[in-house]
Amino acid sequence: MQLGSIDTIVAEIAEETRTHTHRGKVADYIPPLACVPDSKFGIAVVLHDGSVHTAGDAEEPFSIQSISKVFALTLALGAVGDQLWRRVGREPSGTAFNSIVQLETEHGIPRNPFINAGAIVVCDVLLGRLQPREAIGQMLRFVRTVAGDETIAIDEAVARAEQDTGFRNMALANYMRAFGNVHAPVELVLGTYFHFCALSMSCRQLALAGRYLMDDGRADGHSVISARRARRINALMMSCGHYDNSGDFAYRIGLPGKSGVGGGILAVAPGIASIAVWSPGLNPSGNSHLGQLALERLVHRTGWSVFEPR
Ligand code: GLU
Repeated sequence: MQLGSIDTIVAEIAEETRTHTHRGKVADYIPPLACVPDSKFGIAVVLHDGSVHTAGDAEEPFSIQSISKVFALTLALGAVGDQLWRRVGREPSGTAFNSIVQLETEHGIPRNPFINAGAIVVCDVLLGRLQPREAIGQMLRFVRTVAGDETIAIDEAVARAEQDTGFRNMALANYMRAFGNVHAPVELVLGTYFHFCALSMSCRQLALAGRYLMDDGRADGHSVISARRARRINALMMSCGHYDNSGDFAYRIGLPGKSGVGGGILAVAPGIASIAVWSPGLNPSGNSHLGQLALERLVHRTGWSVFEPR
C-alpha cells in the first residue's frame, strides 16, 4: 500500500462519517461520558513501518473504557501465565458487557476476560501480587511504554464517577467473591478496575499502543510479549472483543478488535496495521456505531481482513 493512499483513505472515511445523521447513542450511565459530543470522530492507523496516519479528532484523548481490558489481560498473563485460565474462560459470552446471568450456572467463572466480570477477575489476579496503587502504576507504565508516550493519564473524574455509579459492577464482583473467584476486598478490585477503564488516550496513542499486537509481540523493535501470546490475545479479541456483537464485528470487519463504551475501538491487522477509531455514539450492544462503520470501510478499501488470502 502506498503511504499516500492510506492518508487519502483515512481522510475520506473521516469526511464520510462527518455528515452521518444516524450516529448511535452516547453512553450516559457513566455521567462524564454523557457530556462528550456525538459529533466527535477520530481515526489513527499505524503501519508496520511505524508511520502514523490520522484524520478527524485523532489527537483528542477520550475514555478508553473496556479497551483497557486488553492491556489488563496482557499484564495478568505476564504475571501468572496460563494459570489465569483457571479463573476466566476463553469463550464468547453472547451476552451484554455487564451481564451477570452466566455466572450462576458457570460457578462464578466469567466467560472471557473482555466482559466486565472477566476483567474484574483479571484485576483481582493482578492484586494477588500488587497493591491497587502499584497495579494502577504498572498499567500506566505499560500503556506509556507501548505507546511511546509519557503524557497518557487516567481521568480521575471518570474513575470517581464509575465508583459512584457502578452498582452492577459491584454486584458482579460480590457475586464472584461469593463463588470464591474474587479474593481481594471487592472495593479494592473495583477501584483498580475503574482506574483502568478511566485511562484517557487519543486515537494516535491507542493505535501506537496496539503495535505489539500488530507485530507479533514487538513494539518499536522491542519485545513486549511473545509472538504466541500476541496471537492468542488477537484470537480473543476476534472472538470476544465486542460483547454480544462480536460475531457481527468479525463478519463485517474481519479483524481482532476491542471496543469501549467511550466509543473507541482498537483493531489489529496482524503484520500490517494497528488502528484506533473513536466516535462516542454507540449501537445497542455498547459498541461505537460509526467506529464500526469506519473500520468496515477501511477494511473494504485496503483488503486488510484477516480472511483475505495473502
Ligand atoms: N467501565 C465500563 C463499565 O464497567 C466499561 C464498559 C465498556 O467499556 O464496555 O461498565
